Amino acid sequence: MVGKVYLVGAGPGDPGLITVKGMACLQDAEVLLYDDLAHPDLVDRANPDCERIYVGKRKGFKAKTQDETNQLLLDYAREGRQVVRLKGGDPYVFGRGGEEALVLREAGVAFEVVPGVTSGFAAPAYAGIPVTHRGVSTQVTLVTGHEDPTKPETQVKWKALGAAGGTLVVYMGVGKRGDYVPLLIEGGASPQMPVAVVEWGTRPEQRIVKGVLEDLPSMDIQNPAAIVIGDVAAMDLDWFESGILSGKTIVVTRTREQASLLVKSLRDLGADVLEVPTIEIVDPVDWDPADDAIERLDSFDWLIFSSPNGVDRFLKRVLDRTGDIRALGTARIAAIGPSTGDAVRRHGLKVDLVPDRHVAGGLGTALCALPDIATLRFLVPRPEVARSEAPEMLKSSGAQVEEIVVYRTVKPEGMLPQAVDRLSSGSVDMITFTSSSTARHFAELLDSDLLENTRSHSVAASIGRTTTATAREYGFDVVAEAPEDDVSIEGLIRSICLYYK
Ligand code: SAH
Repeated sequence: MVGKVYLVGAGPGDPGLITVKGMACLQDAEVLLYDDLAHPDLVDRANPDCERIYVGKRKGFKAKTQDETNQLLLDYAREGRQVVRLKGGDPYVFGRGGEEALVLREAGVAFEVVPGVTSGFAAPAYAGIPVTHRGVSTQVTLVTGHEDPTKPETQVKWKALGAAGGTLVVYMGVGKRGDYVPLLIEGGASPQMPVAVVEWGTRPEQRIVKGVLEDLPSMDIQNPAAIVIGDVAAMDLDWFESGILSGKTIVVTRTREQASLLVKSLRDLGADVLEVPTIEIVDPVDWDPADDAIERLDSFDWLIFSSPNGVDRFLKRVLDRTGDIRALGTARIAAIGPSTGDAVRRHGLKVDLVPDRHVAGGLGTALCALPDIATLRFLVPRPEVARSEAPEMLKSSGAQVEEIVVYRTVKPEGMLPQAVDRLSSGSVDMITFTSSSTARHFAELLDSDLLENTRSHSVAASIGRTTTATAREYGFDVVAEAPEDDVSIEGLIRSICLYYK
């Protein structure tokens, strides 16, 4: 079987700007080739089993030549795999996508192109600049400022472009601006022509520098930047709210399945979020005790849940074993806190009891107040290592309590190279811990130098007292903690905002 290669545009930076079709390809990919212009979130969002191959030019990695990348595309496709080559912006706009497609065509390998939102249009848009505007600019030219240096003569007719008017968007235009700006002016462009440089367009760290053409060579600007030259560059339809966390890079250490609320909220507040899952949820070593209890479900008066994972894992097992949710019988259901309660409701079940204060002890105290407590039978599906005090409290009240392990949390084998790289660059501002194990595993996943480096560059935020204590044991500087009466993701987010305000 021969595979297929998808040349997919990732969009300019904001991960939301990938197309629906591009995202679908990413999720089906068996092999993903990516470089630095693809946002790490998109790389993260590929299918978990997908093989991810970095083909960029980051320090510490042997850079792949275009030929080597082409060869990889061919090799994987010939193995019969679905290959996605994820490219920043649009694959065919200064992305060398055309060259890759040619190689594939010549080799007889099937391919598809999924166009993307190109940075030359998106970065100006996020900076408040429409590239064409009635009465101001009726044409737009996309041009590279960095032609293949091996060419004896440049192909770009800079003087003609200077005479042409309209809007000029220069890609890769930072390095050689001292060469092409004089040619534009010689060609007839006004030295006073408005210029806008948009660095890291559409990303939280977006930065705009404005000026006039003759000053462009001396402006303090850096790659990657879209350089807009023309009257539209003076427009200022600013709308891109950077938000209270803008410019901050924040690490989320939860499992990918659980991270979504935290990730989305932080991102909505403008943060650049780096997902570093430190926990994987896996089956218990032995299902027998749980299965045995599941066969006797109708003999329990109460089911006690202490985490959303416990709810999901237990109910899935019940359905797998019995094929019938009615196996739960008439048992009442208690949840340790609101998010665990929500997890129960998502399965179409009612929650009979959630303690007012969802802190340790709250659930036990509420349950022990039940009438005839000593005659009641409780089933407690839980993780292998549990923290809830409720079972012990119930036992001392004389109740019958059976605890069954329905999942274990383990440490993943490693981190994505992109995560390692961003941590070692010292650009991470804050790390969030949502449980003691996220703190412990995070520290254990880093080698000692990287841990030291991370601790000295980044502060930490924690979901509650126990987690804070663990994080501090590992030397993290915890500067924000969810308030005691709101030990939740929302509480954590509020404490982070408070810290940065
Ligand atoms: N295929 C890409 C362009 C790749 S060439 C696209 O369609 O956008 C690399 C150049 O793209 C950079 O030098 C810079 O000029 C521009 N670029 C890429 N991402 C950018 C961003 N987020 N903001 C501004 N310019 C960007």
